Amino acid sequence: MSFNREDFPMLKRSVHGKPLVYLDSAATTLKPQAVIDAISNFYSNNYGTVHRAAYELAGESTAKYNAVRAKAQHFLHARSSEEIIFTKGTTEAINLVAFSFGEAFVQPGDEILISAMEHHSNIVPWQLLCERKQARLKIIPLLTNGELDLEAYEKILSSRTKLVSITHISNVLGVVNPLKTIIKAAHQKGAKVFVDGAQSTPHLRIDVQDLDCDFFAFSGHKIYGPTGIGIVYGKKELLDQMPPYQGGGDMIHTVTFEKTTFQPCPLRFEAGTPMIAEVIGLGAALDYIQSYGLDKIHAYEMSLMKHALEELIKIEGIHILGPSENRTSLITFNMEGVHPFDAATLLDLQGIAVRSGNLCAQPLLQHFGCSTALRLSLASYNTLEEINYFCKTLKNSVLALLNKV
Ligand code: PMP
Repeated sequence: MSFNREDFPMLKRSVHGKPLVYLDSAATTLKPQAVIDAISNFYSNNYGTVHRAAYELAGESTAKYNAVRAKAQHFLHARSSEEIIFTKGTTEAINLVAFSFGEAFVQPGDEILISAMEHHSNIVPWQLLCERKQARLKIIPLLTNGELDLEAYEKILSSRTKLVSITHISNVLGVVNPLKTIIKAAHQKGAKVFVDGAQSTPHLRIDVQDLDCDFFAFSGHKIYGPTGIGIVYGKKELLDQMPPYQGGGDMIHTVTFEKTTFQPCPLRFEAGTPMIAEVIGLGAALDYIQSYGLDKIHAYEMSLMKHALEELIKIEGIHILGPSENRTSLITFNMEGVHPFDAATLLDLQGIAVRSGNLCAQPLLQHFGCSTALRLSLASYNTLEEINYFCKTLKNSVLALLNKV
């Protein structure tokens, strides 16, 4: 039994007549009652707009909203809450920085570096930036086992590199990248570093000052919070030099038809009525995580993951992507003669939710010579019994049906 299973109402439901076994938390986590209650209480009892009004409800909303910015600052250990910008999620965070950093700092002939293991949302915004600015997108290659080729990285870095954007943990391989080494090498060449923390924030404690990254982004819905909310951290001295990403209410200081002046960061990057309820929900999710502690959550998940790896490699015909060491709580694999979509459909009939497809990382799957795969990913609410049920079902029903009938 996990230590917090009771907190998640979704785990009481069944799918196709079987208890739900949810193994797709790298896509999005289930929500604890505390987060659901925080959102529902806000809409039922405290709802009002933020920043714009003098009445009691707006004051209450604004106080709750601002408190979450401070919580996120502590969660990432940022120097100041002015360095915390609310976005819709990691994808919008990357687009914001690609646009705004690009406008301020990227010139024709400059280079942006990403790695061969990036999620599509850490590829496409940089491609768009490079097209807009006639800059070059360069790719840090991988070793055959899927880890970053750090020697090649050092060689690709140059005085033309403006920014390196790298995932902390791969959503396909689960591999944890050596951020400090990457960041130090980039800074030595004068380049800035953006960290995609979508897959690390649910599992690892983050300290942006210790990492010394220039930007760091994550999504609320992957850390037990609601959809439609994320954070991008940026060093204040950089944010202060970056132009707005979108224009509208809330982000302005004065507006005339001739000229508009803008708020300082973070408000300059938050145009329009924000996602107030989602921010409140994110605050509850951060409180929820901290009530157990990420160290405890991570240690528990790692014990499940090790067990899952040990059990999976016993199954004939399974090929696991990525290194055997230095990985967190997700496992992506293929099975000889079995299409991932067929396997996922059959698993679903037994109540098991796993991800199948290109995992939003087509170039990475190509590196491993495939176009689709199956992924199981864990969260704190999963159990050893679920892993055993998953492995048994995979072996007995899927392989029996697809290979041997
Ligand atoms: N980066 C990584 C590594 C991810 O796993 C994801 C989500 N799968 C994203 C970025 C994008 O996050 P979102 O869809 O929440 O914006």
